[in-house]
Amino acid sequence: LVELDRAHLIHPVASWRGHEKSGVRILTSAKGATVTDASGQTLIDGFAGLWCVNAGYGHESVVEAATRQLRDLPYATGYFGLASEPPIRLASRLAEHAPGDLDHVYFTLGGSDAVDTTVRFARYYWQARGLPQKDQFISLEQGYHGSTTVGAGLTALPLFHAGFGLPMDWQHKIPSHYAYRNPVGTDPSAIIAASVAQLRAKVVQIGGAERVAAFYAEPIQGSGGVLVPPAGWMAAMRAVCTELDILFVADEVITGFGRTGPLFACSDEGIVPDMLTTAKGLTSGYVPMGAVFLSDRIYQTIADHAGAAAVGHGFTYSAHPVSAAVGLAVLDLYEGGLLDNGRIMGARLQAGLAALADHPLVGDVRGRGMLAAVELVIDKAKKTPLPAAALPATRIFDRAWQNGLVIRAFASGTLGYAPPLCCTADEIDAIVERTRLTLDQTLEDA
Ligand code: PMP
Repeated sequence: LVELDRAHLIHPVASWRGHEKSGVRILTSAKGATVTDASGQTLIDGFAGLWCVNAGYGHESVVEAATRQLRDLPYATGYFGLASEPPIRLASRLAEHAPGDLDHVYFTLGGSDAVDTTVRFARYYWQARGLPQKDQFISLEQGYHGSTTVGAGLTALPLFHAGFGLPMDWQHKIPSHYAYRNPVGTDPSAIIAASVAQLRAKVVQIGGAERVAAFYAEPIQGSGGVLVPPAGWMAAMRAVCTELDILFVADEVITGFGRTGPLFACSDEGIVPDMLTTAKGLTSGYVPMGAVFLSDRIYQTIADHAGAAAVGHGFTYSAHPVSAAVGLAVLDLYEGGLLDNGRIMGARLQAGLAALADHPLVGDVRGRGMLAAVELVIDKAKKTPLPAAALPATRIFDRAWQNGLVIRAFASGTLGYAPPLCCTADEIDAIVERTRLTLDQTLEDA
């Protein structure tokens, strides 16, 4: 398999570094919060795959729901006025949980196309309002919004931009709230004031609010290194958008489905965005699916306009019945105790990782619920990042793996955590202990 993999299977691009030499690790099975590889080693999956297996692996109820749907009706298009039962039921149950009046759901295949969908709907909304010139979009540095061309332009990763004319000329960025390395310091109100001023200044710079369609923010920036904004930051940015009549899009692809505690992180922020994107935990990684939530106002405006204007947007696998059946089964698990367990285990994880702050390599520990990061530095006072050449993140990943722990090791030297919500207390404690061991070994490497 290792040979065949090297010869034929193209991996997501960031993982080309390294595995060509050592060979891939093949996973063969998984149960609860653990995965087992071809050598027979069982590890705690501290990253829930790619922050997606929120419910954990091996739930029979999910397997049964998918199997039943595969047998009864594996596919139905939403075109031609057709539908199937699972996506209708899933949309209506999700609408009950979604913040405020986010009652209308558009199912996609994953997160990137969910983000693309919001860009399209934002434009349709302003066209329907007779304001087609509102066509500029703003997102954050350190933000991640997908790998499709439109999503990659909103994403702040130079790696995704080079050679594609990205970001496009209508895609703009403002600095992140990144507290540990913020030029305005760590004071929450100063960080919020700076972000508000930066958003206002960017709007002016690109032609005023009459040109701006939407602003995008993750409730916690995930791929940027688990960057948690100060309490009130989301509400402050939402308020600016409301005042300037700019749509506020919350990208909850990572933070949704219990990752930070509630089903949607926006609920804890006390805000209702105009649109909200999810994926990952929606189907807990068992099958692919994403979802876009639209407020009544956005949905009705576009729907009323759609007959008269050229409005089109659809995927063959939009609202896939098997994915929706899995979504329903997974939602049963969240409601049936998993969210509660995630809250308890999330507090334990945060406390355990916070206790690592005394380690010589640990510069910052941050997170909320079952989403956390430990940022490593070589000099705490100066906040000097690890020297990537001498201490590559892949080495830290390998060390953790040998210690029976899967975590994400960002190239920046930050360790990312997003364990399944089904973790036991022992598993959470093991995640922390194995991290400390990995850090001790990394210190020796240094
Ligand atoms: N938005 C956010 C916030 C994400 O974290 C991701 C994926 N990590 C995406 C969008 C894209 O999702 P997908 O990889 O499912 O296309």
